[in-house]
Amino acid sequence: MGATEKADGNERVVTRFAPSPTGFLHIGGARTALFNWLFARHHGGEFKLRIEDTDRARSTDEAIEKILDGMRWLGLDWDGEEVYQFARADRHVEVANALLDQGKAYRCYATPDELAEMREQQRAAKQPIRYDGRWRDRDPAEAPEGAPFVIRLKTETDGETVIEDAVQGRVVVRNEEIDDFVMLRGDGTPTYMLAVAVDDHDMGVTHVIRGDDHLNNAFRQRALIDAMGWPQPVYAHVPLIHGPDGAKLSKRHGALGVEAYRDEMGMLPEAVINYLLRLGWGHGDDEIISRDQAVEWFDLDGVGKSAARFDLKKLENLNGHYIREADNGRLADLAAPLIAADLGRELTEEDRKLLQRGMESIKPRAKSLGELAEGAGFLFRTRPLNLDEKAAKLLQDGAPALLAHLVPLLEGLPDWTEEALDTAVREFADARDLKLGKVAQPLRAALTGRATSPGIFDVLLLLGREESLARIADQAG
Ligand code: GLU
Repeated sequence: MGATEKADGNERVVTRFAPSPTGFLHIGGARTALFNWLFARHHGGEFKLRIEDTDRARSTDEAIEKILDGMRWLGLDWDGEEVYQFARADRHVEVANALLDQGKAYRCYATPDELAEMREQQRAAKQPIRYDGRWRDRDPAEAPEGAPFVIRLKTETDGETVIEDAVQGRVVVRNEEIDDFVMLRGDGTPTYMLAVAVDDHDMGVTHVIRGDDHLNNAFRQRALIDAMGWPQPVYAHVPLIHGPDGAKLSKRHGALGVEAYRDEMGMLPEAVINYLLRLGWGHGDDEIISRDQAVEWFDLDGVGKSAARFDLKKLENLNGHYIREADNGRLADLAAPLIAADLGRELTEEDRKLLQRGMESIKPRAKSLGELAEGAGFLFRTRPLNLDEKAAKLLQDGAPALLAHLVPLLEGLPDWTEEALDTAVREFADARDLKLGKVAQPLRAALTGRATSPGIFDVLLLLGREESLARIADQAG
């Protein structure tokens, strides 16, 4: 299907991401958001954001901010204002009452003790634990005066319900397994089940794409939507993400907030997007897929049925790829605060320009922004350089004497160009019957304080004549 065609006849596609703001936007949630975003963009539809903040005890403003911030960072822009579920409670109550008026729902006066006893008996009889419908056909007049009640949906008891899930395929559940679930609690507050079904309808959601831990809920939500006579959305329940060992993804595996990928792991958003896309969705053997390409290709057919495994190495490799592709100015901006923190001072305008110039030769080695900053560190270290262990090793034995001979040669160069430097250093090595590396390695150690760095001629050019000669002289002896 092309990007401008609609998914289903003339219907305009509307998807939504519906996080509960009880923690950070974790990697599984980000993938759900991405799939919804891509599906909507692919079909030229709308992608909406609904904050499911009905759990007042666990929802926090901080978590909402983190979710919005994470989505913005990933470039998952949503259409219209975000919808806050708690603010819509009156509407949820209205729907429950409408179902009550139509005889499709009923008041249940069972007390918590009675329900506990019911469950106990079911357990003892090895029956499935579910509400037994004790108030379904009972006259509410039998209820004690002023007793609290919940409102339950009257679900079908015969036959079966089928969901043609766009990922899971045909899923069939016997209706007797779908209990008369609570829509309004004793205190009059709506349950998640009611709120989701009503909000999806009111927001015009056509496709519900979410984790397969919600598949059971879909049958209940469906019953409610049917009772209201509303159109059913298409469901797509995506398998959850597992750790590399096949167990449920935990913090140890990388089930962190997306901000950890940005701030602690130094990932670029396009790398995270590409990685999340491939986590459970495929297009042939393609691994590197740009955002535009993903919008063009994405559809639910490509979503796999089995749990995807999280693989940090793959993500790091993708990040390395996108760092190499990234604009040098942007990389310099991203690396600058890390370098400043390391140096304990802000970078000057000159530093910032130098950093940008250095990026071309520094970025091929970096798989994270941290490595990028580390790789650029030599540009700003002050003399005499602190040598790390490996660099110190390279400057043992005959190396200081070798550098002492090299200094006057480099000092005498009329031009400080790559060509001139390359010729001079090669001739110097040849004259001593040394391989180039035997000269380049101590030279690198003296210039950068490290055993790895960009190509030695790039380093000499970036540092310039004066600083280069001074650094070499510091280690010559
Ligand atoms: N708020 C639910 C969650 O965070 C998602 C509900 C849904 O997608 O229907 O898991």
